[in-house]
Amino acid sequence: MAKPIRVTVWNEFWHENPERHADVKARLANYGFSGERLLNATEGVQSVYPDGMHKVIADHLRAQGFAVRTATLDEPEHGLTETVLDETDVLTWWGHAAHDQVSDEIVERVHERVNMGGMGLIALHSAHYSKIFKKLMGTSCMLKTREADEKERIWVIEQGHPIAAGLPEYFEIPQTEMYGEPFDVPAPDTLVFVSWFQGGEIFRSGCCYHRGRGKVFYFRPGHETLPIYYQPEALTVISNAVRWAAPSGGPELVFGDHPPLEKLD
Ligand code: ZN
Repeated sequence: MAKPIRVTVWNEFWHENPERHADVKARLANYGFSGERLLNATEGVQSVYPDGMHKVIADHLRAQGFAVRTATLDEPEHGLTETVLDETDVLTWWGHAAHDQVSDEIVERVHERVNMGGMGLIALHSAHYSKIFKKLMGTSCMLKTREADEKERIWVIEQGHPIAAGLPEYFEIPQTEMYGEPFDVPAPDTLVFVSWFQGGEIFRSGCCYHRGRGKVFYFRPGHETLPIYYQPEALTVISNAVRWAAPSGGPELVFGDHPPLEKLD
């Protein structure tokens, strides 16, 4: 039997943990949250994800037969020690309020694992603005947002892609946060999903990239106050993406001075 793919589910885990992170509210206020919105973005999150989003995602992946561990920002080295990364084929990443608290050293470490080591990285929702995703993309990764709990319709536009396996032609998220174009990322190698929002915007919601030996997938859905990571289609995308992003076992990257393979006259 083939060894299971080893997944580390990483979560910032501040929204779901406001007692420990009183300053998360101040941070969110800085981002323009106010009143009930602000309360919802902390206490409200606990009612949706009492043990954190990572728990829900990890439970699903375990049920799919993956070997799963979780890691969070507050752990030493953010839970992403060399040993943990040695044992990680695919890393999923969710962050929002504390991107700036992720140490550059760990970002560099994860980047090298993807680029040189072939580890897969799946950036979820607001991880579009994480240090690691921005470093992998090399662009601002900015986009439009609106919190109006409106409907999103996600269309599969690359029907043969493994990340679309088992999905219908489109699926809907009844209440979501809007992300709108322009999404300042490089053109994806493959665009698997496009979203339409009730307010009229569209968005590239499922973007595949190759970076060195590694594969990167960006998946848009997953706002902290809404139960999107309980929705079967969203979970199917995440497990499909883990399988797709797992290391392919291609050759090492070899750089620098190189002797000729044939005799040169
Ligand atoms: Zn969000």
